[in-house]
Amino acid sequence: MSKFWSDLVQQLNPYIPGEQPKIDGLIKLNTNENPYPPSAKVYEAISRANNIKLALYPDPDATELKESIANYYKVKIDQIFVGNGSDEVLAHIFLALLKKESPLLLPDISYSFYSVYCSLYQINYKIIPLDNKFRINPIDYKVNNGAIIFPNPNAPTGILLSLNTIEEILTNNLSSVVVVDEAYIDFGGKTSICLINKYPNLLVVQTFSKSRSLAGLRVGFAIGNKQLISALEIVKNSFNSYPMNRLSMPAAIAAIKDEKYFQQTNTAIIKTRAELTKFLTNNDFSVISSMANFVFAKHKSIKAKTIANKLREQKIIVRYFDKPRINKYLRISIGTEKQNSLLCNSLKKILAE
Ligand SMILES: *Cc1c(COP(=O)(O)O)cnc(C)c1O
Repeated sequence: MSKFWSDLVQQLNPYIPGEQPKIDGLIKLNTNENPYPPSAKVYEAISRANNIKLALYPDPDATELKESIANYYKVKIDQIFVGNGSDEVLAHIFLALLKKESPLLLPDISYSFYSVYCSLYQINYKIIPLDNKFRINPIDYKVNNGAIIFPNPNAPTGILLSLNTIEEILTNNLSSVVVVDEAYIDFGGKTSICLINKYPNLLVVQTFSKSRSLAGLRVGFAIGNKQLISALEIVKNSFNSYPMNRLSMPAAIAAIKDEKYFQQTNTAIIKTRAELTKFLTNNDFSVISSMANFVFAKHKSIKAKTIANKLREQKIIVRYFDKPRINKYLRISIGTEKQNSLLCNSLKKILAE
């Protein structure tokens, strides 16, 4: 801390991302990245180097990228907002749409960046506890609020809400923006994008970081009523005209066009998730049924932190949250089939000690 810092910065507790250690042969199951590389078409798009005019600014409106997303989800181009990762999209959403006089509602166990944005933008928020099975109960969101946000599937639990339940939340809160953060929706859930024309208060956020293996490129987007999108464009154009660049845009377009590869990698992850769930269940873990590319599991007797530390000694890193309600759990990202069998072997040894 320094006297040169603003009062706001002195008060902030920034988000701490999962670590990215540089260790050879590391099995990295701590930040929900895709264990498979992106489509080969992504590399082809980036390597068309002499066509990519890096000396020039990129299209500030990201029109071609928006067109390919619009085409994929059968929505209009003015119903799409794109940003430098969904974290940036979310940041603009918090400032443009969630800062209201009444509190923003968010679950106690969810993406921990939400409360960080609330501090950054001085947004009044109210934490709504999940029920005792870590579920979001729509009735709990039928209280005075300025806006609502939650991930679906939720993170770090992996629990998926049905579209009916989401509609119930939307119907109960027609005067509030409801943001559904679908970072993990492609791993078995049904997107609520089909509801945007029915509910002008719905904003859906997605990312290329998880299901499309592009965490390193930073591409995220929001889909909703054009009035909501306009507010995001105003904030974006008051912040950075060019969040999307001449490499990330063609790469993302190539990724969304390669449906076959997308289905192939998602199918592999869903299969491995089922295998890991079965292994953990057979080895005294209770595992929450996950629709994401991770599982959330606790062992009946061995502490989560102990297991995480022992896995690390074997060069496998998983995520452990030292927080009330969830400090008995490990969040394990789904790896490749091979990484998964190495994980299971290591766990077998640790549990046998
Ligand atoms: C990973 C994640 C994000 C951020 O994704 P980026 O597009 O990489 O910024 C947003 N929300 C949730 C719930 C996530 O897990």
